[in-house]
Amino acid sequence: MKIDSLPIPNRLRDSYLGLGITELYPPQEACVKAGLFERKNILAAIPTASGKTLIAETAMQKEISVGGKCLYIVPLKALASEKYDDFSGKGVSVGIATGDPDQRDEYLGKYDIIVATSEKTDSLLRNKAEWLKRVSLLVVDEIHLIGDESRGATLEMVIAKLRYQNPNLQIIGLSATMGNPEELAKWLDAELITSDWRPVDLREGVFYDGKIKFHDAERVVPAAKKDDDINLLLDTVDEGGQCLVFVSSRRSAEAYAKRAAGALKRSSPALDSYAERIAKADTTASGKALAEAVRKGAAFHHAGLPREARAAVEEGFRKGDILVISSTPTLAAGLNLPARRVIVRDYQRYDAQTGMNKIPVMEYRQMAGRAGRPRLDPYGEAILIAKDKSRVDELFEEFIDAPAEKIRSQCQKESELRAHLLALISTEFTNSRSEISAFMERSFYASQRAVHRRLDKNIESALLFLEDSGMIERLGDAVSSTYFGSLSSKLYLAPESALMIKAVFAEHANDEFSAFAVLHLLCMTPDMFRFYLKASDERMVDDILLKRGDEIWFEEFSEEFFGAVKSAAVIEEWISETSEEMIAERYSIGSGDVHAAVENLKWLLHAASRITHEFAPALEDGIKKLEIRAAHGIKEELIPLISLKGIGRVRARRLFERGITTPEELLKAD
Ligand code: ADP
Repeated sequence: MKIDSLPIPNRLRDSYLGLGITELYPPQEACVKAGLFERKNILAAIPTASGKTLIAETAMQKEISVGGKCLYIVPLKALASEKYDDFSGKGVSVGIATGDPDQRDEYLGKYDIIVATSEKTDSLLRNKAEWLKRVSLLVVDEIHLIGDESRGATLEMVIAKLRYQNPNLQIIGLSATMGNPEELAKWLDAELITSDWRPVDLREGVFYDGKIKFHDAERVVPAAKKDDDINLLLDTVDEGGQCLVFVSSRRSAEAYAKRAAGALKRSSPALDSYAERIAKADTTASGKALAEAVRKGAAFHHAGLPREARAAVEEGFRKGDILVISSTPTLAAGLNLPARRVIVRDYQRYDAQTGMNKIPVMEYRQMAGRAGRPRLDPYGEAILIAKDKSRVDELFEEFIDAPAEKIRSQCQKESELRAHLLALISTEFTNSRSEISAFMERSFYASQRAVHRRLDKNIESALLFLEDSGMIERLGDAVSSTYFGSLSSKLYLAPESALMIKAVFAEHANDEFSAFAVLHLLCMTPDMFRFYLKASDERMVDDILLKRGDEIWFEEFSEEFFGAVKSAAVIEEWISETSEEMIAERYSIGSGDVHAAVENLKWLLHAASRITHEFAPALEDGIKKLEIRAAHGIKEELIPLISLKGIGRVRARRLFERGITTPEELLKAD
């Protein structure tokens, strides 16, 4: 099927033709035939790189040409900007939904396409953004994440709510291959498209003893060096390809890149310039290690890197200057960075509860799917490494020939159900017990189960919790939220977090408090991403407790408690004007991690200031000051100066040291 024959605006058609895209790939054609342009719901569960974005983009542009509005949901913020770039500049207006959780962002209503994460969409729904009612086409990228333990429930509820409020909504679900696509398609009332077609031939095999075994062939890998994982790299590079190496931890990713750099030993002006960009963007030890590796043609990639360093690595790889990237699995899910050979080196993962486990087949597939650059590589190879001979056949069975897992609704979890029921009630999506049941009957959760008694029991116990916590009220069948309940939901707090914050503030409503106490409280809530506590951190945490233990409002000595001490200490450094690099060094974390923790805490401080406003007004002023300090990374004395445009933490400090401490003084200065 020709691109020419599609009912899409000329401008889009021309942009495809300009990229050499003239003909639809077979799975894309199947979507068109299934009614993509007749507003049929579609679930495309097809391999990585089979062109899912084009399916969505053509449907969106057609929908816009007849006056529609499109919402494109992505799993990660980083992907939101990638998609924003993809869709922009092609004759339609594109907006990206970021910003604080309790904003409605009504300005977004003016765009044709809005790109948002599922969490952001959920918070827009909770704050009743009007424009959401006008969305006529919903695209959900990576929709299999409905089965993801930490975020699946939110995605499921977002889809359910949008369908409920926009009855005429067309839904397009884009998914990796999964074990039970029929179940998801049935829930979505969607036409199911599955396929194992790929634009580049994929060869999957297992390496052992100097050879890669494929189903129907073997390939000898020269033993140039002592390590197998390096020989596999050199083998591909020698024939003009690049490699992606998936490992289980950041530390392993960094270590691999270092070894690879030593083996590759490339040098070029292009590599030097990437290295310099990285060294500038990330002055931590890890940033220096990355820059050094890149100088020789190797890189690592993980979520702890600052954005600019990541961008340099991606660009260098796309342009073919960087020959290998070692990465934690985050890269597999999102970014479009194919390479001729993918080495899945670590297919076991450690879990604190269950020990070593093999990674899910779905995850293996996503990594393997990155092999082979369309039109650039003659084929792609995905290689597992066997440690002994008996493992060779097992690895074929466990990964290469294994069916992908089935996905399961995550709405059975008590904490998820509490949060989402509270949201339903406080936005008046549902106003009675019977409406709640009716709504939940239409969830993916209910559709996956023959017997619904359990669902009803879970709903009842979640409602009881919310009632006991003073978040909802019930009168006969009627259910409504209290002011506190609505506020928590709008602030996007987990009910447990809101309760903890409110209770502790109420108890200390008239006390003096230290910044550290507040930070520690917020770091105790389930909404804070806490730093993992390493064995080597124990002394540091003990030291902090010895000095600061009296300030803290908790005394419970749980894992959360100690983790919160470390996280609070990191944030306190930030608001004491320690540089990001220094903090990263001191606490052995990535500078991207410092940033992520600060972002997380800024939101919690904002939520906390709203809660104190209602329930502990004497504390409000102090919390607001902390909010400003966290936003800018400053001590309290710089607050007046920071209100000036163009003055950041460094300049404000310089002015202060010269005796200029307020905007008025600055005006008077020459
Ligand atoms: P997926 O999301 O399925 O992993 P993408 O949508 O990112 O894959 O597409 C992978 C690549 O294939 C992109 O670079 C895209 O431009 C290209 N592509 C998509 N459809 C076609 C087509 N019909 N012909 C040629 N190239 C295509």
